[in-house]
Amino acid sequence: AGQRLAQIGVTGLAVMGSNIARNLAHHGHTVALHNRSIGKTDALIAEHGSEGDFIRTETMEEFVAALEKPRRVLIMVKAGDATDGVIEDLANLMEPGDIIIDGGNSLYTDTIRREAAMAARGLNFVGAGISGGEEGALNGPSIMPGGPAESYESVGPLLESISAHVDGVPCCTHIGPDGSGHFVKMVHNGIEYADMQLIGEAYDLMRNVLGMPVTEIADVFRDWNTGVLDSYLIEITAEVLSQVDAATGRPLVDVIVDAAGQKGTGRWTVKSALDLGIPTTGIAEAVFARALSSSTAQRKSAQGLVAGTSTDFTPEDKAAFVEDIRKALYASKVVAYSQGFDQIKAGSEEYGWNVQPGKLATIWRGGCIIRAKFLDRIREAYDENPELPALLLAPYFRDAVETSVESWRRVIITATAAGVPVPAFASSLSYYDALRAERLPAALTQGLRDYFGAHTYLRVDKPGSFHTLWSGDR
Ligand code: NAP
Repeated sequence: AGQRLAQIGVTGLAVMGSNIARNLAHHGHTVALHNRSIGKTDALIAEHGSEGDFIRTETMEEFVAALEKPRRVLIMVKAGDATDGVIEDLANLMEPGDIIIDGGNSLYTDTIRREAAMAARGLNFVGAGISGGEEGALNGPSIMPGGPAESYESVGPLLESISAHVDGVPCCTHIGPDGSGHFVKMVHNGIEYADMQLIGEAYDLMRNVLGMPVTEIADVFRDWNTGVLDSYLIEITAEVLSQVDAATGRPLVDVIVDAAGQKGTGRWTVKSALDLGIPTTGIAEAVFARALSSSTAQRKSAQGLVAGTSTDFTPEDKAAFVEDIRKALYASKVVAYSQGFDQIKAGSEEYGWNVQPGKLATIWRGGCIIRAKFLDRIREAYDENPELPALLLAPYFRDAVETSVESWRRVIITATAAGVPVPAFASSLSYYDALRAERLPAALTQGLRDYFGAHTYLRVDKPGSFHTLWSGDR
């Protein structure tokens, strides 16, 4: 009796967990702290203990006992088995009605499984996607919590208080049941992959088709950041390109090894897209482009393969071509987001989540890595028509893409002629052309399938399925 209790506990005090714990404390919440090894807990208290009201705990028992009821615990440990272990330890100490929030990058199918297991024990399980990296965790991330609606009533205000805010609106909202929060966070990361790949291709075109120096390219991105492309990733692209390596005096980008790493959320997005049958080509190209960049031995062996072209394809009007690249980037970005929202819609239907795309666009406007001005336009598009068949077809985006399409083609023609790879630009344009085509060669595919496998086909002029007795039939 009389013991001071915490509104929330955070277990897992590596960079993300400690920053979120501080963020919670900065907003006036009493926060119980726990980490598997006590070192991180003590380091946090030593360095930042004066920033707010923290309760130091060593054991899981002490940690759980330090929480007011219903207890709320935010888990910020390594995704996978570690998270399962921590959930089990907590569940064994908790009581019905208590709430476990997993803020790690968990796979949504794990979250579905965990939510069901916890519900069977009377516990509320919230799978919350958190985006914004270290900086966001400390100063305001974008938070995507999924789980029972009742538990959002209890944890929603806490999470909203620490999230980023845009125009006074928190970048945190209840996404839907069980795995929905981690699913949309996964697609968010996939879109982030696509965004970064497109930015990389735009940079490569300026560098290797136009031959522009890196500092000049940085200026172009800085300029683009004042228009429709205004976004966190474009802003930091200008900064990364402006960085000079102190040791060599060269642009830092030139001394960084050109092999892109990945932690898995992009790959998960593409696997899920394949399962759902959604052509999320922009994200897939981005994931494959990272894989190709990391095929170091193969790339080394392929050095010297003939380009098959000796003509100089440098466009004469440099400024005009830079503007073409800007439009191609914007159009490809619209395609990538349109595909990402298609995947979210398909996932939501598959699992019965009823995810509201407009609400999602609203909470992605701040805090997260893909935050961008243009998310306001996405929100407006879904506000206007929640049943949009594709984001690409909303009047604003349709117009943006249609007015860019000539530039888009010029960029791909030039890149192809010059031998500069633009997988995401090119496949996004092909997607656009396929989507708008009146007839696709899929009719021939159906003919072939019927020929060798009697898979039958539908006809354009009458109902029913048909099989032809092909002359090749024996
Ligand atoms: P991390 O490197 O993913 O995980 C380290 C933390 O997990 C440490 O507190 C560690 O405790 C604990 N841990 C590892 N295995 C454990 C086990 N078997 N039992 C109990 N605790 C265990 O840390 P992070 O980068 O801060 O990320 C935390 C979570 O947030 C992850 O799920 C990550 O994917 C997600 N996330 C990260 C970012 C980011 O930008 N880094 C952004 C969004 C989401 P010890 O100190 O005892 O080793």
